[in-house]
Amino acid sequence: MPSYKIVFLGGGNAAGYAARAFVENGLKAGELAIVTEEPYCAYERPALSKGYLLGAARLPGFHTCVGGGGERQAPEWYSEKGITYLTDSRVTKADLANRTLTLENGEVLSYEYLIIGTGARPVRLTEFAVPGAELGGIHYLRDVKDADALVAAIATAKERAGKAVVVGGGYIGMEVAAGLAANGLAVTLVFPENHLLNRLFTPELAAVYERLYDAKGVKMVKNARVVGFGGVDGKVSSVGYTDATGAVHQLEASLVVVGVGARANVELFQGQLEMTAGGIKVDGQMATSVPGVFAVGDVAAFPLTSVATGQVSHARQEHVTHCRLSAAQAAKAILGLSPTPYDYLPYFYSRVFALSWVFYGEAPADAVKVHFGDMTEAKCFGCLWLGAGGKLVGAFLEGGSADDAAVLKGAVAKGLRLPAEEGGLGEAVVGSGAAVVAQLKAKL
Ligand SMILES: Cc1cc2nc3c(=O)[nH]c(=O)nc-3n(C[C@H](O)[C@H](O)[C@H](O)COP(=O)(O)OP(=O)(O)OC[C@H]3O[C@@H](n4cnc5c(N)ncnc54)[C@H](O)[C@@H]3O)c2cc1C
Repeated sequence: MPSYKIVFLGGGNAAGYAARAFVENGLKAGELAIVTEEPYCAYERPALSKGYLLGAARLPGFHTCVGGGGERQAPEWYSEKGITYLTDSRVTKADLANRTLTLENGEVLSYEYLIIGTGARPVRLTEFAVPGAELGGIHYLRDVKDADALVAAIATAKERAGKAVVVGGGYIGMEVAAGLAANGLAVTLVFPENHLLNRLFTPELAAVYERLYDAKGVKMVKNARVVGFGGVDGKVSSVGYTDATGAVHQLEASLVVVGVGARANVELFQGQLEMTAGGIKVDGQMATSVPGVFAVGDVAAFPLTSVATGQVSHARQEHVTHCRLSAAQAAKAILGLSPTPYDYLPYFYSRVFALSWVFYGEAPADAVKVHFGDMTEAKCFGCLWLGAGGKLVGAFLEGGSADDAAVLKGAVAKGLRLPAEEGGLGEAVVGSGAAVVAQLKAKL
């Protein structure tokens, strides 16, 4: 039975960053094996809904760690470092008591330390028995295989002047709708909320992006619930939805992309590990309830301190920065470097058309929201969320530089006090985005 000191189960985005951290901290050849069901070594998954749909990103160009400003780790990188990368290798059983993993082909691996990075999978409408949800032409986007299928479907839809419908107004829905529109398709974005990215955007922020989608020819159907799909010869031809009054409508569609959330891949470990918040419960070293077993990335529910309340609760974060940092944290813990407990400031980013935004912290509904910058021209604008006592708990910026983003991050991490009654940010609040960033910088 092949035996390794460390096995990384998952081999996705986090795996590349774990491998880098191991190598930087003294991993010896032969000690690490990475096992993934995908046919590729780790890559920067966010590219799939952005450059990949535009033909700009293709492997090996976006292997980790290029997204984090590091070296591009193509397959040769792993072999040079003495790391075994088992691709096309689905793990069907994890026996944590005996420290073994069984692969689909029956092979069994043993380990001393295990890092679980099995990520998440898209929520499928078939799970809710939505009529017609099993038809061909309905796409989900998680890996290169999905992205290749979508790129091929885009080409076919273009040839036939087909119409596309995107279900879901969150990150994936917004990015995919932008990608399809940039490919010249007629796109309708359908979602149940009353504005885009309801989880984060204020109505004012959403309005800026909605104007952009409108200008790009993307139609939006809000307050709409998809209730079924019509098909011809096993292939989708229409999307049925109900509006706020319950009336049913149909949209023509030869291509559908669904982005309605994700679920962590935890099934292999049910009954063996403590679970919480839809994921595997870990501590500040990314260690699970079983000694020697760690979990990182999308699958890990880790202690997260609320910027707004200071309370700590276990949470999952499906974001690439967390996957990178948590992977490095687990690697250091396994190497006995006793890293300081994981201290993560939530960070989200997205790019649609020529726009690009960042967000740090939290966006509680009861916070005071202070918008700033040029929202009419959609140039450099944003929003600050002020919690109790005027404490800055969340900051959003569109169109800023990397230095500006660092200022926002620092300001939220520090919990700057910007009480409205003391003038807050003064004139800058109604001034330009650059002026607000400058004021925040001056207060750091
Ligand atoms: C289309 C898309 C766009 C995104 N855009 C952004 C963005 O703009 N910004 C942002 O912050 N985040 C974004 N994300 C989220 C980000 O990509 C994830 O947070 C990140 O990939 C998580 O890394 P991970 O290693 O935990 O999981 P993953 O990268 O999903 O890797 C998990 C791996 O485990 C494999 N696996 C699962 N089960 C098994 C098994 N039983 N046996 C073998 N292998 C298995 C999977 O096939 C996969 O390769 C995006 C995600 C997607 C899908």
